[in-house]
Amino acid sequence: MAQATSVPVLFSSDAIVLPGMVVPIELDDTARAAVDAARATESGELLIAPRLGDRYPTYGVLATIVQVGRIPGGNGTAAVVRGKSRAHIGAGVNGPGAALWVSVEEVPEPEITDDTRALAAEYKKLLLAMLQRREAWQIIDFVNELTDPSALADTAGYASYLTQVQKRQLLETPDVVERLRALIDWTADHLAEVEVNDKIAEDVRSGMEKQQKEFLLRQQLAAIRKELGEFGPEGEENPDDYRARVEAADLPEKVREAALREVGKLERASDQSPEGGWIRTWLDTVLDLPWNTVTEDSTDLTAAREILDADHHGLDDVKDRIVEYLAVRARRAQRGLQVVGGRGSGAVMVLAGPPGVGKTSLGESVARALGRKFVRVALGGVRDEAEIRGHRRTYVGALPGRIVRAIGEAGSMNPVVLLDEIDKVGSDYRGDPAAALLEVLDPAQNHTFRDHYLDLDLDLSDVVFLATANVIENIPQALLDRMELVQIDGYTSDDKVAIARDFLLPRQRDRAALTADEVTVTDEALRKIAADYTREPGVRQFERLLAKAMRKATTRLAADPTPITIDEPDLVGYLGRPRFMPESAERTAVPGVATGLAVTGLGGDVLYIEAGSTDGDAGLQLTGQLGDVMKESAQIALSYVRAHAEQLGVDATALDRRIHVHVPAGAVPKDGPSAGVTMVTALVSMATGRQVRSDVGMTGEVTLNGRVLPIGGVKQKLLAAQRAGLKTVFIPQRNEADLDDVPAEVLAELDVRPMTDVADIVAQALEPAGQQATLAA
Ligand code: ADP
Repeated sequence: MAQATSVPVLFSSDAIVLPGMVVPIELDDTARAAVDAARATESGELLIAPRLGDRYPTYGVLATIVQVGRIPGGNGTAAVVRGKSRAHIGAGVNGPGAALWVSVEEVPEPEITDDTRALAAEYKKLLLAMLQRREAWQIIDFVNELTDPSALADTAGYASYLTQVQKRQLLETPDVVERLRALIDWTADHLAEVEVNDKIAEDVRSGMEKQQKEFLLRQQLAAIRKELGEFGPEGEENPDDYRARVEAADLPEKVREAALREVGKLERASDQSPEGGWIRTWLDTVLDLPWNTVTEDSTDLTAAREILDADHHGLDDVKDRIVEYLAVRARRAQRGLQVVGGRGSGAVMVLAGPPGVGKTSLGESVARALGRKFVRVALGGVRDEAEIRGHRRTYVGALPGRIVRAIGEAGSMNPVVLLDEIDKVGSDYRGDPAAALLEVLDPAQNHTFRDHYLDLDLDLSDVVFLATANVIENIPQALLDRMELVQIDGYTSDDKVAIARDFLLPRQRDRAALTADEVTVTDEALRKIAADYTREPGVRQFERLLAKAMRKATTRLAADPTPITIDEPDLVGYLGRPRFMPESAERTAVPGVATGLAVTGLGGDVLYIEAGSTDGDAGLQLTGQLGDVMKESAQIALSYVRAHAEQLGVDATALDRRIHVHVPAGAVPKDGPSAGVTMVTALVSMATGRQVRSDVGMTGEVTLNGRVLPIGGVKQKLLAAQRAGLKTVFIPQRNEADLDDVPAEVLAELDVRPMTDVADIVAQALEPAGQQATLAA
């Protein structure tokens, strides 16, 4: 038996602390006394026991104090404690100070038997299943690493689905077997509840069609009739008569055989057995698939182009690529050639670009142009291979994967399937969804695609797959190799005005049940919304704002039916004050701040790099959103400025201090090195006290001797410069050819200067010495 010791005790009424947990506890005077007393002891330990009405607790947790501090935003104090082990509480004893002291006996570590391990494994499985539903990946990793059954059970102290009473019971159950049993019960119950709720929510979401409801009701009716020994009207297909349904259905021979085998099993299974339920669900899935249904393609490419033009403004090169792609497919089909993998072969096209540039809606247009059905499969956050390929039927609650469900939803075997956000598929211990996708997309394999649940060959070779992605670099390489990449970089202000006027506004007006006679928005107003109310490469936020304005207009028209014209000055009344004002003038008003251009996961953006210095040893400190590559380019920039101080007009002693480079949050660039020239400019500005001109932006990698090296994403960066209202932009000379892709409107508004030496950029970007910032810019 463990030795009795005496410790100060803290009765906690809100948190139940279990061993292993780290928890903040708010301190009142008595609790504070216990904390102070514990800190004065050698072990530094105190006992945390739940306050339980009038019952004296029998168990508590011995804990150490991690930290004591003020509660942010409040005026109380709190202690962060770490639970160590269970202890049995004995009698009160006398001790120093104002705290209460009790004698305690530490509960020895439970012995771990095979039984305990088996229970722990079962509990872990349930726990992981639940955490997966919540997509709590970090916690999953943590739980996966726990091997001690008792510690695993005690993590339940953090669970939000357990009540305080349940947690107290865990505390008071030193026997780990009993503790795990209780947890398995509770967690299984909770999981079942969540599953039912999700199912209901899912049904509501997918808008359970009237037909489906009727089908369910009929099924119930048939069950009742069967029970009563009655039969339906002559000739009516009985949904419970799977044999008749399979025989009547238009199924490929192999599928029919497999289905009939299952029907045989069903007929042998007892009515109540769960297996019967599973077989029925499987048969329903098989009968619902459009095995022999295909739609006729329209092969008229001119008409296809007209449809693409009718649905989307601009994007000429993208539309050209789509039409070429359709032409290749049509030609191969005519010649009876199979579509093969690889670029340029018409296999899979991926539309890549920032949000809101029309990737998804182009996919829909392609379906319309081909005269095919359209389905979208959202892949964002998919990490489980079974999401793509289905669960094996032996798995409780098994479902077919998303590809099979998409085909079912489309109702034809040759729809256009849009794999949305293919760059966001992850992979972890549950298999690699990308590998499953590879099989789906590979023309050599996909005519016999096997979903684990369905367990039948499904021919996907007639499906047109399209994919969308924000960041190409995040697409698994093996997938990217099979795809034809079409990049959409974003829109100019002129484009946005045209898209809004011709597409977004009419649609939003329709939604608000308004007509063009009742409400119009002037081009000037549209331009102002694009410039000052949104700052995005696409038009998503733009469309939302137009929807908001139309709702406001509806309300106004209800009060006064005079037709409305929304002009620039009226916008404040409809949308409030502009959210984005030219920011660069304000940011660069102090020396040491330079405006860079970056490409982020959300498209092009401006980013401000700040340099400062403090007393202290010469050295470089970096803070903010910097990747490794960016840190390196900061080092290079500083070395360059130090080595060329004289040429740059920098007093070398200004650099013999502690230099600080900061990249504020917001724009996290994908390509680190392209911030090089901006860092050099910020450093020189800081060291000379000369401000950077507020209307200047720049991008380019820098070498140790100041050469400016080429970078990527020129078009996206220049679009961002236009959005941010910059006037002069420095780019690397070797990127000059990329200007061919940049819209003329953008080039007309910006003074783009191709450069080879960063010293020239610095000379042109900085205000002359002694000059005040031109804030009016
Ligand atoms: P993404 O999939 O790239 O995030 P969406 O397809 O959801 O973008 O597009 C957002 C909205 O903007 C849609 O309503 C779409 O129709 C509209 N849109 C985008 N680009 C254009 C365009 N060039 N012409 C007409 N409408 C467009």
